[in-house]
Amino acid sequence: MSDPIIIVGAGQAGLKAAETLRQKGYEGGLILIGDEPFFPYQRPPLSKAYLKGEMDEDRLFLRPPAWFESTSVDLRKGTRVASLEAEAHTVTLESGEELSYSKLLIATGTRARKLPIEGAHLPGVFTLRTMADIAPIRASLEAVDEVAIVGGGYIGMEFAAVAAGLGKTVTVIEACDRILERSVAPETSEFLQDLHLSHGVRIKLGTGVARIDGEGAVSGVVLASGETVPAGLVLIAVGAEPVTELAGAAGLRVEGGIVVDEACRTSAPDIHAAGDCTVFPSARYGRMIRLESVQNACDQARAAAAAMLGEDVSYDPVLWFWSDQYDVKLQIAGLSQGYDRTEIDGSPEEASFALSYFAGDRLLAVDTVNAPRQHMMARKMLAESDSETTPKPARQAVA
Ligand SMILES: Cc1cc2nc3c(=O)[nH]c(=O)nc-3n(C[C@H](O)[C@H](O)[C@H](O)COP(=O)(O)OP(=O)(O)OC[C@H]3O[C@@H](n4cnc5c(N)ncnc54)[C@H](O)[C@@H]3O)c2cc1C
Repeated sequence: MSDPIIIVGAGQAGLKAAETLRQKGYEGGLILIGDEPFFPYQRPPLSKAYLKGEMDEDRLFLRPPAWFESTSVDLRKGTRVASLEAEAHTVTLESGEELSYSKLLIATGTRARKLPIEGAHLPGVFTLRTMADIAPIRASLEAVDEVAIVGGGYIGMEFAAVAAGLGKTVTVIEACDRILERSVAPETSEFLQDLHLSHGVRIKLGTGVARIDGEGAVSGVVLASGETVPAGLVLIAVGAEPVTELAGAAGLRVEGGIVVDEACRTSAPDIHAAGDCTVFPSARYGRMIRLESVQNACDQARAAAAAMLGEDVSYDPVLWFWSDQYDVKLQIAGLSQGYDRTEIDGSPEEASFALSYFAGDRLLAVDTVNAPRQHMMARKMLAESDSETTPKPARQAVA
């Protein structure tokens, strides 16, 4: 009997790969190893409905417990893979147990970036990435009146919406000149900023953080200007970094993420990778890309599973993403980097519009606000226009 396929990381990508392997008829041994103590779950509700208490824990889980038994997926939760021996085709668990694999998928995701400043370890200072983060955050949210959020990205702004909805005094501190600067155009930033201001959120832009103050527990955030933002809860939401230590220590190529080719192959034989932890080549966007999105985690995991079974795979999808803030759904199709003009269709005043990004005549991306039909149309248009203009990538070696 040949060795099993092993998947390291039981998150969105790891689960999707296991599911795809079974759907495609792979009947051999399949071990899914995750260091969190939970069944595989979805993260987006952690900063939205689940944080608000509007969603039961059961609905977070991607598959019910019985699914793992019925599909013979050997889920090892609460189990950390300590090392990977690529040549020997083994992984070693923290317990010391060694497991051999025929093929390995690394889907280790990202972790929340820490802020290396004084006071960052005080009680009441949080990051938000896992289900285990939520109970202490909720307890703190119930107890405090003033909330400060460091970082005006998606998780920071979604958290601001929830905290403002609970009647808290919320201040967002952002180092850039506008919120969500790295992913959307000024028009979309401005719309969302006005939305937050209308809910009473204070937004401090172009502002660094000097330290976090408190004796025994956090009492405020001291800005670079010297001003103090009082807060009983501080969320550090300054991005995430890919979990690549396992791959790096095993000698796999890592450059801001685990480098894979269009078939999700790493630089080591029989090792694929998928999800937030990877950087992959995109002919569609003309560069290497690392993403943190459910679309990418799921689609790349599907592609990796197919490639592991020997199918000819070329992963280069139209990318998409969403964010929920108050009653607004922002959806983004494509990647806007490199745009030279935008066109708006609809009305920001009525909270329903589409903003298209172009480079010359080429449509790159579309942000839609409360316009799901236009989002779906945009994805279709991007897929069609790119398939006319984009040559498929030549096979690219990652070794
Ligand atoms: C609060 C929040 C809100 C989000 N909202 C959205 C959204 O609205 N829309 C959207 O598209 N995306 C959203 N995302 C991003 C999305 O959830 C991620 O892109 C997706 O979860 C990535 O899946 P993954 O499998 O690559 O990584 P993960 O889901 O992070 O899974 C990786 C798993 O591997 C485990 N692991 C790591 N190292 C080891 C090891 N050595 N041994 C065993 N296990 C290990 C990790 O603990 C983790 O459980 C959100 C993320 C967060 C945190």
